Amino acid sequence: MLWPMLPTAPVLHQATPATPLSLDSWHPDDLLEQLVLVGCRTQQARQALLQLAKGTWQTATPWPVLLATLGKTARKSVELLVIAPVELQVTDDRGSADATRKLLLRTHDGHLIETVVIPSTTGTRTTVCLSSQVGCGRRCTFCETGRSGLIRNLTAGEIVAQLRQAQRSWQRHSPELAPIRNVVFMGMGEPLDNLAEVATAVAVLTHDRGAGLSWRHVTVSTVGVAHKISAFFEQVQAHLAVSLHAPDDARRSEWMPINARCDLATLKSALLQHLPPGREVLVEYILFADRNSALADAELLCGWLAGLPVRVNLIPANPGPDPQLGAPPAEQVWQFQKYLLDRGIRAMVRHPHGRDIGGACGQLAGAHRREAVNRQGPDGVDEDAGANAPL
Ligand code: SF4
Repeated sequence: MLWPMLPTAPVLHQATPATPLSLDSWHPDDLLEQLVLVGCRTQQARQALLQLAKGTWQTATPWPVLLATLGKTARKSVELLVIAPVELQVTDDRGSADATRKLLLRTHDGHLIETVVIPSTTGTRTTVCLSSQVGCGRRCTFCETGRSGLIRNLTAGEIVAQLRQAQRSWQRHSPELAPIRNVVFMGMGEPLDNLAEVATAVAVLTHDRGAGLSWRHVTVSTVGVAHKISAFFEQVQAHLAVSLHAPDDARRSEWMPINARCDLATLKSALLQHLPPGREVLVEYILFADRNSALADAELLCGWLAGLPVRVNLIPANPGPDPQLGAPPAEQVWQFQKYLLDRGIRAMVRHPHGRDIGGACGQLAGAHRREAVNRQGPDGVDEDAGANAPL
């Protein structure tokens, strides 16, 4: 006897939620599957999601108005599963002399996160730097964010909402410059420590039923969580950047506690094993004066890079929490770059943006935290912060 073919269950990236999720907290493919399961025809569901994407990303249509444009069945199905996209409250939005903008955004439960919009020097390309966590548990010594520890992960909806707020601010303040088309996850947090939400956010950013950016314009930066690199490439269609910052284990462990558990050899081996064919990894290396910027350090760095398909970004240090870790003189930066270039390694110098507005990760939130502490009255209450504010 032949058994009838049973329909196979859809492979979902996330479990069906008991309560609706915000639009951008859904992986677009999962949402399509779920809409079909609750009664939409596939084509109807696909059309409805395209309409929602256009309304939220292109025409900025208010959510109730957007829902009203859907057919009756599609609207009922959407209302079962989806609520309006997350809105983050803009607490601070400041521009720097080099046109970089830094936004300080408040989540619904009062936490502050940073989002930075960075134009290229020619004004033809604009990049947004997104946060993936509130605070960070990795505690790198040169990073302001690391000082607060991890407070919580951001949801995919909160990650994507940063792009929306950044676009609004950018269109208002710098309409003459290129629109935001590039995304880097180099803000607050370690993205691989919040991989599921980051993966969903990247899917929303790059899907035609989402923001529709090219995945080639999205880069996720890790401090080097080697055991998650395999999962990253399985779940996320984006470039990977690795923050290296030191050419040997002794210094890296001193500045980046992750290195004690996941040393340079382990990190390199994970990259060699899991980097998809034809792809390269972006290596970021902050240059600190008298600490990691001598030619002997460049030589050590070249040794670690050997055999890896890489591009290197050399970043003269921004002032951070450790006054010992300043930038080297420009001449030394160029010599370090030349050493790498002469050995066939593509190395760019990336000058820090927005120094006059606290451009480095966590600086603006840190400044607000300190201001809030200074503002606290005798009862210890910050008058400007919400009841649940972490300040
Ligand atoms: S540099 Fe990145 S990983 Fe390290 S503490 Fe800062 S946010 Fe976390």
